[in-house]
Formats: sequence, C-alpha cells, structure tokens
Amino acid sequence: MGAFLPSEEEWDFLWCDVSWLRENFDHTYMEEHVRICHFRNHYELSRKNYLVKNLKRFRKQLEREAGKLEAAKCDFFPKTFEMPSEYHLFVEEFRKKPGITWIMKPVGRSQGKGIFLFRKLKDIIDWKKDGVRTDEQKDETQIETYVAQQYIENPYLIGGRKFDLRVYVLVTSYIPLKAWLYRDGFARFSNTRFTLNSIDDHYVHLTNVAVQKTAPDYDPEKGCKWMIQQLRQYLTAKHGAGSVEVLFADMDNIFIKSLQSVQKVIISDKHCFELYGYDILIDRDLKPWLLEVNASPSLVASSQEDYELKCHLLKDTLHIVDMEGRLTGKEKRVGGFDLIWNDGPVSREGNLGAPVNGNFMANTHLGCYNDRKQQLKQLFRTLSAQQTA
Ligand code: ADP
Repeated sequence: MGAFLPSEEEWDFLWCDVSWLRENFDHTYMEEHVRICHFRNHYELSRKNYLVKNLKRFRKQLEREAGKLEAAKCDFFPKTFEMPSEYHLFVEEFRKKPGITWIMKPVGRSQGKGIFLFRKLKDIIDWKKDGVRTDEQKDETQIETYVAQQYIENPYLIGGRKFDLRVYVLVTSYIPLKAWLYRDGFARFSNTRFTLNSIDDHYVHLTNVAVQKTAPDYDPEKGCKWMIQQLRQYLTAKHGAGSVEVLFADMDNIFIKSLQSVQKVIISDKHCFELYGYDILIDRDLKPWLLEVNASPSLVASSQEDYELKCHLLKDTLHIVDMEGRLTGKEKRVGGFDLIWNDGPVSREGNLGAPVNGNFMANTHLGCYNDRKQQLKQLFRTLSAQQTA
C-alpha cells in the first residue's frame, strides 16, 4: 500500500508507510483522538538484525530473572549473526557444525531479494569482496548489513513442497502490552519439490509469493496458498488434535515473547497501533520457527479468497482502532481478532480465568472457524443496547 501524504489539512487517521513516519512523526502535532498505523521505532521488531538482538537480550533477562526453563521458551529463532559485525562469532559457530546449510539475508530488503544459501566459508568471502553493496551503494563507504542464519534443513513438507506461514498480530499498546491475534492467515508454498541438493534454486528454498510467481511453471489460477484453517485440518488429520494444539500454543508463545522482547524498547505512544505480519516456518518435528516480523505486511491479494481475507483483516483492524468510540475496552473478541495479551495472558470467553483441569484456557483461535460477521453483528447490537439503556 502506497503512502498517503496528508496535507496541512486536518486528519484523524493515517495509514502511511514507515518512511512517512520516519520523516514526519516527530514534527507532527497530533490531537488526542488521532491514530496512526506504526510505532515510531517499529524496526526494533521488523529488521532482521534488531529482532534477533532484542530476542537474545530478552532471553538473557529471562534466564536471570526466571531461570533456564523460562529462557528456553525463547528458543524459536534459528542461530543468527549480524554481518559483517559478528563475522568472527559466526565463523566460530560455522566451524563447530561443518556441512550444515546457512542462509544470508540483507536486513533492509524484503520479498526474498538479495538472499542466498551457502555451505562453504569461501562463499562468504566472495560476498565480502563484492556482494556487500547494492548497485546504488557501490560508491558509498557504508556496507549493507546482512544476517547469516542457520538454514532449517528439515522443513515440514506437504506434497513434497516447503511452505511458511503468514499470521497477523495487531498491537494497540506496548505499555501495557495489548495484542490481538487474527484467526485467518495462510501458508505460502513453494512451487517446486524440496531438495537440499540444489541450494542455489530460489524456487525450492524461498517461499515468498514474490519469488514463486516468477517461476516458469507458476499457475496463477492454482496459486500457492492455503488458508490456515485448511492447514490446521490437514495437520490434525495427520498428527491428531493434541500435537496440533501444542504446535499452535508454541506459535502463540512466539507472538508474545517476541513482543515482550521489544516492549521496553519500542516507543509506546497512545496514537500508534501496528498490524504485524509474522513469518513462521514449521519443521518436520512440528516445531515452529520465527523467520521474520513485517511491519508493513503486503495487502496485495493473489486470489479472491486472499482478497476477502485482507479486506476483512483491515475492517476488523479498524473496528479495534475504534475511531468512533463504540467499544467498551473490555472486549476479548472483535470480528476475526481475539485478544491474546492484555498486560498478561487472556482467558477464553465464558471461562472466568479459572483453570480447566489445571490448564489455563488461553484466548487464542488461530486457524479456527472465523465467524466474524455474526460476531460483529452481535457485538454491535449489544453495545448499542447498552448505550440506549
Ligand atoms: P524476506 O524479508 O526477504 O522475505 P525472509 O526472512 O522472510 O526474508 O526469508 C524469505 C524466505 O526464505 C522465507 O519465506 C523462507 O521460505 C526462507 N527462509 C528464510 N530464512 C530461513 C531459514 N532460516 N531456514 C529456512 N528457510 C528460510
């Protein structure tokens, strides 16, 4: 979505891109009710190197304050080093595990641009020599920052193909942390069967739609997406409800821990909210890995189903941002969004926080049926009845 540049005229709500925010936020006066769709330093979560730096720091803090077991709940991102600043640390790690595959990703780009896989240090030396500047940067002294990340060599495959997940999380406040999880999302499949024999083939290894749609045998009719409900059903049929519940609870843990890792770093501001697109990869042991968090997830649709998902997602985001002041602030569900964190875990509707069979029932429904229309109708009917009473 392009930037909408407000003029001197009055505005109440701004859906802008992050570059507008960078240039204007600090010099813009905003009245109490005004809302804007990014936080000032969103990059603490959305740049690959900062995300990892914040997660590593948060892990250490948890280890100090709550012990090793709690800290281990942060072990959901592959081993990652910032390049070139952590080159020596990377080489140490590289030598400990000879023969495994690594992936190099430029921190400031997206859609799979500039990414390559490697197994030999020689490939990095070539990169250091001539790969560190983009064409525009050729004459500049500054070099482009990358991350070197352990490549997940055993992705979960369906029909022999790799996929990753896109899941949406809306944050309406960092202090206190208030986060909502959308019920819909999708899996993005590679068009080509997975193999570790051809590490240079992007169609095999990168599941970005932007990459896959350039494949020679890409079929726009078939596309390469599954709704997350379809995936959840498939996995449940294959592995049983219990294992799938653990997988989805592990994903919830990723959303919360990653947000907590930046909670004190992000400049919380009552005017700001942010809709994040999480990229998650599942491996063959049904363990989810966090690859990336996008602060401007693509809202371009690749099919009718995808178009509906994104329209509903935006509508429900606006319902929660609530410019009209219709909500009470106590809602646990609005349309397709469920409140998953409100300065602490949120229990399921109808369950007054009491544990069921010793288990706290978390208010998360990713990949469950999304009857948003019905829910909204009922919600707004109740709200207007309360108002007239
Ligand atoms: P970009 O911002 O360019 O999209 P990502 O980190 O999302 O970069 O990576 C692009 C794609 O590469 C992912 O969708 C995934 O398919 C693949 N990928 C990235 N990191 C890894 C990894 N550590 N292991 C396996 N596959 C990965």
